[in-house]
Amino acid sequence: MQLATIRRGDGTGIGVVLDETVADIAAVAPELPRDVGGLLAREDDGLSLVSSLVDGAPRVPLSSVELLAPVLRPPKFLAIGLNYAAHVAESGMERPQHQVWFNKQSTCVVGQGAAIELPGASTMVDYEGELAFVIGRRCQRVSHADAASVIAGFTIVNDVSARDWQFRAPTWTMGKSFDTHGPTGPWIVTPDQVGDPHRLRLRTWVNGELRQDATTDDLIFDCYEMVEFLSTACTLEPGDLISTGTPSGVGIAMQPPRLLQPGDVVRIEIEGIGVLENPVVAGR
Ligand code: MG
Repeated sequence: MQLATIRRGDGTGIGVVLDETVADIAAVAPELPRDVGGLLAREDDGLSLVSSLVDGAPRVPLSSVELLAPVLRPPKFLAIGLNYAAHVAESGMERPQHQVWFNKQSTCVVGQGAAIELPGASTMVDYEGELAFVIGRRCQRVSHADAASVIAGFTIVNDVSARDWQFRAPTWTMGKSFDTHGPTGPWIVTPDQVGDPHRLRLRTWVNGELRQDATTDDLIFDCYEMVEFLSTACTLEPGDLISTGTPSGVGIAMQPPRLLQPGDVVRIEIEGIGVLENPVVAGR
């Protein structure tokens, strides 16, 4: 199942994407939460409930709806750094012995088609195409063997990074957290449909030029190791958004660097999940 959060009139609602159409779940179940994050936070099995409503829900063309970030405001937005060997090498770093995590502030989340703003305070904004996953239930100390059971679905994140802000401090938090610098979507795809998340081709284009091309079997730490590691320290909650790192081909590592400019369009495609595309605009 492909679960989306769509704009409906002056509100939002849950949609299920079927090829080129969207089943408008809120039209038949207005009492349901208004985004996928709210659905996951319910005590009952919200995904099964939504699945049972698809056949009776009105269909609208996919092209006619605005797709918001599936989880509008994740409780946590965590991202791992240096998780593809070729990206570690292009960054001039050592292969990490332990997982390197940072926070993106959840206020940076935007959806499909939303503008990535270039803030006046930074001259070095870059893209990072990434596989991400969303936690489906509250959990602690999850073993690697059980990790798949706490993942509600997979999506795409553009871990947009203000490199000057990122590199001037020992932690990356500020450089990773500018408003609009967390494009997420276009929807989440449930694990049964994705299959093995470690066999997916990931590609990023800027203005049609291929910049990143890798598969997720190149991850240094896999998705289940990430769940095990994170949940050793902190409780994971429904809607938590976990981004799994970017492969090589980021703009800052090019000679000379090719950072984002107003008018650029960043397109990230992950096999079996979809396409996340966002324009770049001059910000304030
Ligand atoms: Mg990243």
